[in-house]
Amino acid sequence: MKKATQQQTKEHNRSLVLKIISEQRNISRAEIARVTGLTRTTVSDLVSELITDRLVEEVGHGESMGGKSPILLALAENSRFLVGLDLAHDQFYGAIVNLRGMIQQTVELPVDGLTGEEALKAVFDVLDLLTASAFTPLVGIGVSTQGLVNSRDGVVITAVNLGWRNLPLARILQERYQIPVFVINDSQAAALGEYTFGEGYQQSNNLVVITARHGIGSGIILNGELYQGDGGGAGEIGHVTMVREGGLPCRCGTIGCLETVASTQAVIRQVQLLSGDPAGINRTQLSHRDAYDAVIRGYEGGDPQIIHVVMNAAHFMGLAISNLVGTLNIHRIVLSGEMTRFGQPWLDVIRETMEETTLYGLARETHVEIGTLGENGVLLGATALVLKDMSSLISR
Ligand SMILES: [Zn+2]
Repeated sequence: MKKATQQQTKEHNRSLVLKIISEQRNISRAEIARVTGLTRTTVSDLVSELITDRLVEEVGHGESMGGKSPILLALAENSRFLVGLDLAHDQFYGAIVNLRGMIQQTVELPVDGLTGEEALKAVFDVLDLLTASAFTPLVGIGVSTQGLVNSRDGVVITAVNLGWRNLPLARILQERYQIPVFVINDSQAAALGEYTFGEGYQQSNNLVVITARHGIGSGIILNGELYQGDGGGAGEIGHVTMVREGGLPCRCGTIGCLETVASTQAVIRQVQLLSGDPAGINRTQLSHRDAYDAVIRGYEGGDPQIIHVVMNAAHFMGLAISNLVGTLNIHRIVLSGEMTRFGQPWLDVIRETMEETTLYGLARETHVEIGTLGENGVLLGATALVLKDMSSLISR
């Protein structure tokens, strides 16, 4: 192995110091030296450079441990900005966020049914607006999409609803906008989002985040890193068969997948079949979003048929989680996506089913909860991918 040059070592140490300041929020130079094992002089030099670079700022004094009270350092959260883009089923949702994942500006574009070149053109439309905004400098773009993605090369292998196959999306966008671009599957993005920016998840080494919206998928964090599997498809639970006899056809070509029983599209489809049209969605041609809003209204209004449909969906989600718990034994399972709008009663049925169908010892230690980022989780996760390599922030 080649010995690292002095310059490489320095860059590595500078990224490390920046990462620690970013994670710890307020920290002194002495504490950084203690955590990293670097000398105080080295830390002081690196911190000076980061301050000159405007990435780090001094934010006051900490408590004295006898002697002078130390100066505390913090990440200058508005010194750089990131672009996140969530290519969701019926709309492309883009935003500018700061280094702490706080959203500064958003752009929404309805895209019902756009595919191929047209869908790519819509991606340009959203990014053209965002990259022209006043929030500068921009250090990178993170894009999340449904389907199978090769994140390392930034290639969308297949995104059925967008009609993309082997699309080198990162390269195309990088050439157009001249900043680093990262591409990730939407469920994996949601996991990274909750892990990086969600309340209280940074301390968990392992985490599973299930995104349940038009489609269903999950993202798995193992030992603090996103686990993508051998082919990038780790966590693709949406197309595991749940109903073999009499199951409904799924867009993947088989029948009875989890998506056909536990997603927003499944719930809408089943509510449409109810007698008396309790959600009032059969007479008019509603978009997916409007139909879903109508179902939510019926649910919140206490319609027993709609509640039954939702609880049935929750039951299947509980079974899917039970499989994950049996496979991974990860204690923290987080739910995100629009299905979480069904709230506590939906969550309760998921938990009950998981407990009934998982080995007692495993179920007892498993916490199933709703995530903290709401519908922004996927978008924020895409930007978290840009932040993974702190060195990309330096000298920009
Ligand atoms: Zn399927």
